[in-house]
Amino acid sequence: MTDRKGQLAANLAKVEERLAAACAASGRDRADVTLVVVTKTYPASDVRLLWELGVRQVAENRDQDAAPKAAACADLPLTWHFVGQLQTNKVRSVLGYASEVQSVDRARLVTALSGEAVRAGREVGCLVQVALDARESARGERGGVGPDGIGELAALIAGAEGLRLDGLMTVAPLTGPYAGRQREAFGRLMDLSTALRAEHPAANMVSAGMSGDLEEAVAAGATHVRVGSAVLGVRPGLG
Ligand SMILES: *Cc1c(COP(=O)(O)O)cnc(C)c1O
Repeated sequence: MTDRKGQLAANLAKVEERLAAACAASGRDRADVTLVVVTKTYPASDVRLLWELGVRQVAENRDQDAAPKAAACADLPLTWHFVGQLQTNKVRSVLGYASEVQSVDRARLVTALSGEAVRAGREVGCLVQVALDARESARGERGGVGPDGIGELAALIAGAEGLRLDGLMTVAPLTGPYAGRQREAFGRLMDLSTALRAEHPAANMVSAGMSGDLEEAVAAGATHVRVGSAVLGVRPGLG
């Protein structure tokens, strides 16, 4: 095993231990929580090593970085998630590799995603990104729609050709009433998910939790955690 592969294996094992402990602590089945590894800023060679180590779901947040990486890994049957703020002019490129877009936060983006999914003859999974720090239905600083905007956007996705409404995603807010209160933030997201599922029973994905707060997310009931630095190392600068 190369040094890098050994390092990734050790990091993955630690994350796996944390996930197992968090599931045990809240009486959840480990199989009910999916680990999505966020590979942003790290090279395609790392994605390949992660594949060899059993990772099947990866996420990226910038198309410029992700598109060439996904192309270099096109031989691997990975599931690519897009988790970053998405401009409509990048939609075609992103849908070239991503089958799940976790950061849907406005109507114009739904229209663009739907148009491209239909053109490509694909079905694309969508999560509404919720900004718990946004007022009402305004958009958050790091993307996302405020809680009051979820229903309208979800209905739009559910009715859009080529798109599948899968659930909700959030990033724990750095500002506002939930700053530093991950447990409460993720609890609020779960309540919003319950409300969403009353209208859309199949939209049961809840994507929350990163390297620093995956335990709180699992405790709240997240079905997907997005872990970057705890697996790949601390990112220098950007990302
Ligand atoms: C970078 C990123 C992550 C992973 O963050 P870490 O703290 O490195 O685990 C998760 N979600 C989104 C949306 C991200 O941009």
